[in-house]
Amino acid sequence: MKITDYTLHRLHLPLREPIGDSQVRFVDHWMTIVELHTDEGHSGVGFQIQQGMPIANPADLRTQFEYAVWPNLLGGSPLGLAQRITRPRGGNVGTGPRTPAVETALWDLVGKQQQQPLYHVLGGDNPRVPAYGSTLDFRLDDAEFRLKLKRFRELGFTASVKTKVGAPDLAWDLRRLAIVKEEMGDDVRVMVDANEAWSVKETLIRLNAYRDAGHEIFWIEDPITREDYEGYARLCAELSFTRVNTGEYLDYSGKRRLLEHNAVDVLNVHDSVSATRAAAWLAADYGVPVSLGNTVLELGVHLAASLPECLCLEFSDLVWNDIAVEPIRFEAGFAIAPDRHGHGIALDRDKVAFYSCP
Ligand SMILES: [Mg+2]
Repeated sequence: MKITDYTLHRLHLPLREPIGDSQVRFVDHWMTIVELHTDEGHSGVGFQIQQGMPIANPADLRTQFEYAVWPNLLGGSPLGLAQRITRPRGGNVGTGPRTPAVETALWDLVGKQQQQPLYHVLGGDNPRVPAYGSTLDFRLDDAEFRLKLKRFRELGFTASVKTKVGAPDLAWDLRRLAIVKEEMGDDVRVMVDANEAWSVKETLIRLNAYRDAGHEIFWIEDPITREDYEGYARLCAELSFTRVNTGEYLDYSGKRRLLEHNAVDVLNVHDSVSATRAAAWLAADYGVPVSLGNTVLELGVHLAASLPECLCLEFSDLVWNDIAVEPIRFEAGFAIAPDRHGHGIALDRDKVAFYSCP
């Protein structure tokens, strides 16, 4: 099977409500879709999201793709390209020709060629992965937050939920945690994400205050700046009553440094197939579990299903699932990897046309 042609789409997806955290607020997503076509009539599809500003217009997108990406794909075998290990050095360091969207499309083709769902191709044998509802709620008022929790409850996320913290005022955090309990019940597992809002000292003060107020926190995510490895090591040592989840904002080298410094209890991975699996291998070597952060259209379910030490998968119920004929299914707090060939997400052509931004 050889790659012979491609199609690009640029989509603009207005969100149902603002999403954000202690640092950012977004009202829309920009999406690049790459379709790779083969001489055997298969097409693989990949997706990439940009937040905060538009992606290049379609003509420029095509020019960039033709220049930097396409020469490396034309005539290539999807399996070989998907598995190729490169060693970027010097001026080559960067995303390179195998962008996350291209890599997703390649793995989709591999699954279609082998007539296997992607999680099988990656070695997984159980399509059900524990998932948690992630509310991205920082920019919502209390009433809107309650509605969002209700929606997650109705979607079956009654066991596990993650909310945002990190307001200047500790009372705000405590009020939101109380709302979680009121809406989800006392038994729900709660994770919180501060998105680098704090210092080490402030993190210790906050987490102790949550505990004193009766809130058990399963993990605290990204409390301090991403590269403060000593700070994270101190938090892991001192926060004996919860877990420190970090790594979301770091590349492979940064994740390695976290592990080397004993500076992470749960390593957050949510990159491309190859980068996620490499980081998860490394975490396994240190005996550290991983969690799968948000991935476009929840395609990370295939990765999570193939990683033996993945605790759970994040689900934020975002509008990007609108463009799928059949989005990834969630059932009673589990994500179910589809048994269709490849990653199993086919494009709803009417919706793609609706959101397309020429
Ligand atoms: Mg996060």
